[in-house]
Amino acid sequence: MPEAFPNNPLQDKKILTVALAGNPNSGKTTVFNALTKMRQKVGNYSGVTVEKKLGRIIYEDHREINVLDLPGTYSLDVRSPDEKVARDVLFGQMKDTPRPDIVVCVVDATNLDRNLYLFSQIKDLGLPVIIFLNMMDEVKEQGKNIDVQALSHVLHVPVIAGVANQEKGIEELKSLISTDVAPADRRLWRMPEQVESRIEELMILLWREEGLAKSDTFSEAIILLSKDDKTLKEILRGRQKVYECVRAIQNDLTEWGINWRSVAIESRYDWISKSLKGVFQEKSGARQITATDRIDAVVTHKIGGWMIFLGLMALMFYCIFTISVYPMDAIDSFFSSVSGVVKNVMPAGDLRDLITGGVIAGVGGVVIFLPQILILFLFIGLLQDTGYMARAAFIMDRLMRGAGLHGKSFIPMLSSFACAIPGVMAARTIESPKDRLTTILVAPLMSCSARLPVYTIIIAVLLPGALAWQKAGLMLGLYWVGIFGAFVMAMIFKKTLLRSETPVFIMELPPYRLPLFKDVMMHMWERAVIFLKRAGTVIFVLSIILWGLMTYPKHDHLSSSEALKQSIAGQAGLLLEPVIKPLGYDWRIGIGLIGSFAAREVFVSTMSIVFNIESEGEDDHLREAFAKAAWPDGRALFTPLTCISLMLFYVFAMQCISTVAVVRRETNSWRWPLFQIVYMTTLAYLVSLAVYQGGLLLGFH
Ligand code: GDP
Ligand code: MG
Repeated sequence: MPEAFPNNPLQDKKILTVALAGNPNSGKTTVFNALTKMRQKVGNYSGVTVEKKLGRIIYEDHREINVLDLPGTYSLDVRSPDEKVARDVLFGQMKDTPRPDIVVCVVDATNLDRNLYLFSQIKDLGLPVIIFLNMMDEVKEQGKNIDVQALSHVLHVPVIAGVANQEKGIEELKSLISTDVAPADRRLWRMPEQVESRIEELMILLWREEGLAKSDTFSEAIILLSKDDKTLKEILRGRQKVYECVRAIQNDLTEWGINWRSVAIESRYDWISKSLKGVFQEKSGARQITATDRIDAVVTHKIGGWMIFLGLMALMFYCIFTISVYPMDAIDSFFSSVSGVVKNVMPAGDLRDLITGGVIAGVGGVVIFLPQILILFLFIGLLQDTGYMARAAFIMDRLMRGAGLHGKSFIPMLSSFACAIPGVMAARTIESPKDRLTTILVAPLMSCSARLPVYTIIIAVLLPGALAWQKAGLMLGLYWVGIFGAFVMAMIFKKTLLRSETPVFIMELPPYRLPLFKDVMMHMWERAVIFLKRAGTVIFVLSIILWGLMTYPKHDHLSSSEALKQSIAGQAGLLLEPVIKPLGYDWRIGIGLIGSFAAREVFVSTMSIVFNIESEGEDDHLREAFAKAAWPDGRALFTPLTCISLMLFYVFAMQCISTVAVVRRETNSWRWPLFQIVYMTTLAYLVSLAVYQGGLLLGFH
C-alpha cells in the first residue's frame, strides 16, 4: 500500500485515476486540458511536460475522475529522469501515486508505428487501455486514411479517433473513461518460441521469489533481458538469483544466434508492422510534398536558415523596444502620479519616504518592464506553438554538438531565455548524467527575462537617442555573448570535469501548426502573473529592506548623498568599491550589485531607490539619473566603457537565489549550485575586468 498523504486527492481510493501516456508531442497535454478544462502549458516540441500533472474530470452527474498528465516517453525502458516518472507511475511504483485504473494512450496518428511501440509496452502491463488516436486532421491532410475499427480490432482495445486541439473526440473519450474498460489479459505479440519459454522462467522467479505482481513480470523480464552486464549488476544489486537467471538466458540466446539486446524490440516492431497492414490506407500512392516540407526547405537551409533565425531574433528585440514605449510611459506616469498623491496626502516623514522612495520607486522601477516581458513571451509563444522552435533547434544542433552539448540540451537552453528555472528542470530529459549536469551548469548563462530590464536601462544610458534597431542590435549582441559563453563553458566542462561521450540525437521536426490564440495568450498571461507576483513579493520586500539599509542610521545634518554614504548599505557599497573599481563601478553601483544577488532585476529597483534618496525624491527618470551620476572628481560614472562592462557582468554573473535553489534540488547536492555561483561570478568579474581595463588601455573611457 502507498503511504497515506493527507490532502492528496490521489489517495482517495473511491475516485478512479486515469493516466494519459504517450510519446512526446502527441498531444497529451492538449487532451488533458480538454478533459479537465484546465490550462496547462502545451508546446509544439518535445519535453514541455517534465513532471506529472494532476487534474479532474467532473461529470454532469457529479461523478469525478482524477486525470494524470504524464511526461512524454517513447518507451518504458528507464532512460532519462522524466521518462522514469511515466514508467514508475504505470508500474505503480510512484510513492504518492496509486497505480492508474485506466491508461489513455494518446497516439499521434501521423506516426502510428512509433507510437504503438509504447502502447504495446503499456498493454503488456495488463492495465485497461484506451487509445486516443490524435491528430486525425493531419492524417487527412496527408491524404491518408486510418481504418479505426480495424485498428481497434487488431489491438484489442477501444480506439477513439480525434483532434484534441479542436476538442473532437473528447466527449466520447470522457464517456468511455467513465464506463468499465476491461483489463486486457492477453499478450498481443510474441518473441520466437524458445525465447518465450526461457523468459517464462524469469517471470516465475520474479513472481515467486520477489513478489512482483504476476501481470508485471513479463514487462520487467524483457526489460532486464535487454540490459548489459554492468547495468544489470547495478539494478540487481542484492538480487543474485535474478541476476544469474538473466545472465543464463542471455547466454543461451547468444548461443542460439539471437541478439538479446534487440529481440524484444524487433519482435514488437514486427508485430506492429503486421498489425498495421490493412489499417493504413494511403489514398494516393506517393508521399505528398506538404506545405511543411516546402517551408522547411527554406527555414532549415544552411545559410538561409541562419538568416531567418537571426532575423526573427532581431525583429523580436526591435518590437520589444518600439511597441513597448507607450505602455511603459503609461505605467511610468501611473507610478509617478501615485507617488504624487502619497506626497500630497501624507505628512513628511520616514513612512512617506519609505512608500515613495522605497516601495514605489523599487516596485515601479521593475513593473515598468511588464510590456517588454509580454512582447518577449508573445514571440516565444508564437515561435513555440507554430513549430518553428524545433527548426531553430535543428539549426543550432551543429553548433551545440561542436561544444559537446547534447541535442536535447536545446530545449533547456531555450527555456532559459525565459527563466533558468524551467530550463534547469527541462534538463531532466537528458539521459546521461554528465550531459545533464553540463546543461544545468550553463543554462543560466542564457539571458533570462530578468536581465531584460537591466539591459534596457543600461542601453538607454549608453545609446541615448539611438534608433530602435540600433538598441535591438546591441541587445541581440548581448544575448549572443551569453549563448557563446554557454557554449565555451560547456566545451570546457565536457573536456574536464564532466568528460563523457555525447550520444547522437535524432531530432524530430513536428509539422507547422497554426498556433491557438488561446494558448499563446495563456503563455503570456502565465508569465505576466509570475513577473508581477515577483514584483509584488520578492521585489517589494527587498525594496523595503534595501530602502531601510540605505536610510539608516539617519544623519539628518548631512546632505542626502553624504547620508546615503553613511548608511549601512552605503558602507557596504564603499567596502566593495575597491574590488569593483577596476571594472569601472563605484559604491552606488556596488549597492545595486549586492541587491541583485537575490534577483537580477533588483538592480533596477535598487538603483531607483539609490538615486531617489540621493535626489531627495526629485522625480528623475533612472536613465537621466544615471546620465548625471559622477565620481567625486566630477568624471561621469556611466561612461560607455562602464556601461559595457556592467552589461557583460550581468550576462555572466549568477544572480538568482531561486535558480540556486532549483539547481540544488535537481542535482541533489549543494556542491553544484555553489560551484555554479563561483564559476559564473568569477567569469563575470574577469570578463568585465578585461573589457574595462582593455578599453582604458586602448584609450576609450
Ligand atoms: P504533449 O507533449 O503530448 O503534451 O503535446 P501537447 O499537448 O503539448 O501538443 C503538442 C502540439 O500539438 C501542440 O502545438 C498542440 O496544439 C498540437 N495538437 C494537439 N492535438 C492536436 C491535433 O489533434 N491536431 C493538430 N493538428 N495539432 C494538435
Ligand atoms: Mg505535455
